[in-house]
Amino acid sequence: MAEIQDKDLAKFMRGVVSRNPGELEFHQAVQEVAMDIVPYIKDNERMQRMRILERMTEPDRIVSFRVTWEDDAGNIRVNRGYRVQQNNAIGPYKGGIRFHPTVTQSVLKFLAFEQVFKNSLTGLPLGGGKGGADFNPKGKSDREIMRFCQAFMTELSKYIGQFTDVPAGDIGVGGREVGYMFGQFKRLKDTFEGVLTGKGIEFGGSRIRPEATGYGVVYMMQAMLERQNDSLKDKTCLVSGSGNVAQFCAEKLIELGAKVCSMSDSSGTIYKPEGLTRADLDWIMTLKNERGGRMSECVEGIGTKFYEGNRPWALPGQLAFPCATQNEIEAADAIALVKTGCIAISEGANMPTDPDAIDIIREAGIMHAPSKAANAGGVAVSGLEMSQNSLRMSWSREEVDAHLKEIILSIHEKCVDKGIREDGTVDYFKGANIAGFDKVANAMLAYGAV
Ligand code: NDP
Repeated sequence: MAEIQDKDLAKFMRGVVSRNPGELEFHQAVQEVAMDIVPYIKDNERMQRMRILERMTEPDRIVSFRVTWEDDAGNIRVNRGYRVQQNNAIGPYKGGIRFHPTVTQSVLKFLAFEQVFKNSLTGLPLGGGKGGADFNPKGKSDREIMRFCQAFMTELSKYIGQFTDVPAGDIGVGGREVGYMFGQFKRLKDTFEGVLTGKGIEFGGSRIRPEATGYGVVYMMQAMLERQNDSLKDKTCLVSGSGNVAQFCAEKLIELGAKVCSMSDSSGTIYKPEGLTRADLDWIMTLKNERGGRMSECVEGIGTKFYEGNRPWALPGQLAFPCATQNEIEAADAIALVKTGCIAISEGANMPTDPDAIDIIREAGIMHAPSKAANAGGVAVSGLEMSQNSLRMSWSREEVDAHLKEIILSIHEKCVDKGIREDGTVDYFKGANIAGFDKVANAMLAYGAV
């Protein structure tokens, strides 16, 4: 990472690093926000005196716990679970649960911190949190997944509730896992409440929730292009990942007439220059969601190319949609994107672009919507699921999709409002950081020193 020039920012970041030693992902997420917020509040005596930014970087609390479960062979297994409750100034903690072997406290703190700004941008009354475990769901049987989810929820249930903290899914946690966790919460507490989102339709889930993050990422891209009098039609698109977010991002792109040329998983990238068809995408969805297959199987299955171990960013494409994981676009990838003529990026994954890559992309004048703005559709529809649960109502697909679109368009407007440069272009990172910060900061000011 380049050395920090601004003295106030450098001092602030020294404090963050010394209070959170070794938590590199967390430092990165805080610095990305502080770069815009430190200058923004420089002359705001009240925000300085009340230490708003310092308080926002300190989680309200972190719970860490042992998850003991039994595998199919009768072995006792132990994992570590967490819930980071970052900030509830504007609503109950809200944010997903991730099951992946790379989960650490630092990763969850970065995600929880980002979540505060994202949730604020949606305009809904949602605070920020994140949780998970270093459990690897790959290769586990359905029974093992169920026992793990139940063991995880047995402890987590002590800290969550519909008015306190409402988790959802994330990497490794989809509808099946949410179902097992909701069932266990209900058994333990004997209440039927909207304590988790991403539930099945039969027990309080919202229509469009599985699709929401991916669709929202595309709506954000659409809004950025429309501001330039351009459209998605016939654009060549590079999508990374092949999980929940990537699948529905690809679905919406195909529906709106764009060409999805790539998708990927942790083993490599597929490439089809003329774009995947709807039938190709259905085949990939079955491969990933039902068969637990690898993207390399697409060569035989749907006739794509496959580049083992590669990310998609060096392939030709006008639009990029990173939808896999954090730091999946590094400097070399950003240089490749610039070289092949990428004009815009909408981030589906959380913090997928590292700081050096962000600089290169900004320098090249590529439009770049950060995850906290572009992938807020998921949490927005989770917020709508909470509303439906409270109202004991269920809205139609069309109603939820219309709300989703409206929320993403309003986030785009907020980014433009706070991030517009003198030349009329938009710094979407700055816009999202400032707009997300304002609402939470003003609520914190109203509460005094709590
Ligand atoms: P899934 O578990 O459904 O899919 C994750 C995808 O990313 C898979 O294709 C996986 O490949 C790939 N992947 C994961 N880790 C790595 C890695 N270290 N290197 C390369 N590829 C990797 O997760 P989601 O689609 O739900 O989440 C994807 C991203 O979107 C995450 O950053 C998540 O935080 C973010 N997000 C998700 C939301 C949601 O509603 N689900 C909401 C907002 C953000 P493989 O199958 O090989 O592991």
